[in-house]
Amino acid sequence: MLHLFILILILNNTIASADWDYAKNGPDVWKENYPTCAGENQSPINIRTRCTVFQPFSRFEFTSIYYEPIKFNLTNNGHTIKAVPNNPTSISLTGGNLKGTYLFESFHLHWGPNHNSGSEHQVNGDKSAGEIHFVYIHPESKQRAVLSFLMETEANKSQPVYLRNRSRNVAMEKQWQNYFDAAHKLIEQNSSTTLDLTLELLMGSNVAEFWRYVGSLTTPSCAENVIWTVFRQPISILDYDFGFFRDDLFFESYRGPQPLYHRQVNRSFLNEKLSPIPDENLCFSDFLSIILLELSYIDITFATIFTIINFQRS
Ligand SMILES: [Zn+2]
Repeated sequence: MLHLFILILILNNTIASADWDYAKNGPDVWKENYPTCAGENQSPINIRTRCTVFQPFSRFEFTSIYYEPIKFNLTNNGHTIKAVPNNPTSISLTGGNLKGTYLFESFHLHWGPNHNSGSEHQVNGDKSAGEIHFVYIHPESKQRAVLSFLMETEANKSQPVYLRNRSRNVAMEKQWQNYFDAAHKLIEQNSSTTLDLTLELLMGSNVAEFWRYVGSLTTPSCAENVIWTVFRQPISILDYDFGFFRDDLFFESYRGPQPLYHRQVNRSFLNEKLSPIPDENLCFSDFLSIILLELSYIDITFATIFTIINFQRS
């Protein structure tokens, strides 16, 4: 009986990971099995900084264990390395204009084929080498709040100047090195390991400046109503660490930006620099694309009616 149960578990895992991926069953075809992936509140997005709207936000508050080392279980789940604390309900998040208390669930990384490609969110069309998602969930409503950091590597020189020229954070670098040393051993799917990590050191202390919008999970089911916080300052790591992920784990693990449609992106800081892209209609391009899409539907409708009338005449 136990053997049968284990077999079903293994089969379930295999089916779950073969169902979607970042290659043959990649983001372009997810909507065929997961219709929500074609919704109008999808993530990630390209953040056009000049189109963001300032809004005052309350400070993020974490429970004290956020500042202490806790035991994490790291697992290769066939899509990424997922890190889950052994006691998931002990880290809570409030503030940041979130309604109520959210509980920490897990964190994971996204990456791409080189140091200029791998982040899910883009800033003025700029990609970073990767992105990390710290996932929180509201215990009653099950709404998720994701705290997201772009990850830049040493080889990445195409970031705007305000994201560079800052002092190194040695404690954070060491913490990430511990993470990558452990994650590098998880080549086999479903392999796992445990290690002690401190969330505050992984995230860094600069959590006051961010962009905020409402979107979705960036993997199937693409469920919507996720509150996104994308921090302005990226985390720096060595390109070597992602090199291992690219070569031995998965070539890439990210979804590209989705249309913004009617959504607004807020920012928590006043002094936004204008976009370097000389496009006066930048903030309206999504609106225009919706109109063009709707016009194309009208064209199709007219063409269909015309064909039917012609068919009836003949
Ligand atoms: Zn993610």
